[in-house]
Amino acid sequence: MIRIVVLGTSASMPSKDRTPSCFAVKYDGVFLFDCCEGVQKQMMKHGVSFAQVKCVFLSHLHADHFLGLPGLVQSMNFSGRKEPLYVFGPAGTQKLFETVFAAKELRPHFTLRAFDVGESDKPVFDSRLFSVKAFEVEHSCTALGYSLEEKPFRKFDLEKANAHCVPRSRFSEIQAKNSLKIKNEKTGRTKTVKLDQITFVKPGKKIVYSGDTRPCKNLLKEAQDADLIIHDACFSQEHQQMAVDKKHSTAGEAAEIAKNAGAKKLLITHFSNRYDDITPLLREAQSVFPETTAAEEGMAIMV
Ligand SMILES: [Zn+2]
Repeated sequence: MIRIVVLGTSASMPSKDRTPSCFAVKYDGVFLFDCCEGVQKQMMKHGVSFAQVKCVFLSHLHADHFLGLPGLVQSMNFSGRKEPLYVFGPAGTQKLFETVFAAKELRPHFTLRAFDVGESDKPVFDSRLFSVKAFEVEHSCTALGYSLEEKPFRKFDLEKANAHCVPRSRFSEIQAKNSLKIKNEKTGRTKTVKLDQITFVKPGKKIVYSGDTRPCKNLLKEAQDADLIIHDACFSQEHQQMAVDKKHSTAGEAAEIAKNAGAKKLLITHFSNRYDDITPLLREAQSVFPETTAAEEGMAIMV
C-alpha cells in the first residue's frame, strides 16, 4: 500500500492553523511533493522521517511550494546525511537551487542534485516499485503536475496454487524458474505447473498531483482512471472569477476533473486562507463527486 501524508494545505502563505502545500508519499522511502515553509515541523509532528526523503518533486517555483527545502537540507546536514537528495521541478529549478546551495552557509555536505524536468512520456523518476511522470498544467507560471504510477505486480492465487499442489514453500522457486515439476500426492503423478496457472497480475495504483492549476485538459488526460487525484481547490464557486484570474481551481472544478477522469477518489487542497472553515468547499465538491475528501494536515491516506 502507498501511504500519503498531508503535511500542508494552505495557499500562498501559512496561517495560524495551516501550512502551505506539501504531501509526503511513503513507499520504499519518502517522496515529497512540494516542500513548504515549516515542512520539518510538519514531518516530525506527523511521523514522516526526513532521513528517509529520497526525492522532492516541485510543482512550480512560487515560493510557497519550495521555501522548506533550505531548512530541510540544513537539518539533513546536522544529522550527517550521506545519501544523495534529488530535486525535480520545472525550468529554472536547477539554477535556483544551484545558486541557493552554492552559498557556503547553506552548502550541503551530501550530494544534492536539482533537475529541470518537463512533460515527457519518459518518467522523471523510476524505481523498482513505481515511476513518477511530469506533465504541464495551467498556472500563472510554468507549472507541473505529477503522476505516480505503481508498477503492476504478480500475486499468487492461493486456491489455484492449492489445486495444483504447489505449497507456499515453493513459491519463490516457481517464481524464479517460471514452471515446476510437481508430484500430486493423491494420484502419484508428476506434472509441470506454470507460474501463470497459479498467479495473476495486479495492476498498480495511480496517484495524480495537480500542483497549482486551472482545471485543464492535460491534467484530465493524465488523471484518467486514477485511484486518487490530489487537486488544487483554492476557491469556492462564489469566488470563481478569482480562481480564473489567479489561475487556480474551485472545489467544484476539481470535482468535475475527478468525475470526468473516472477517478476513484479526490483529495482537495491548497485552500485560500480567506476560508476559516472549508466545509462549504467540501460540500461543493461532493455535490459533483461524492468520493471527495478535504485535505487536513496530518491526515494519512492509503492507496
Ligand atoms: Zn502558485
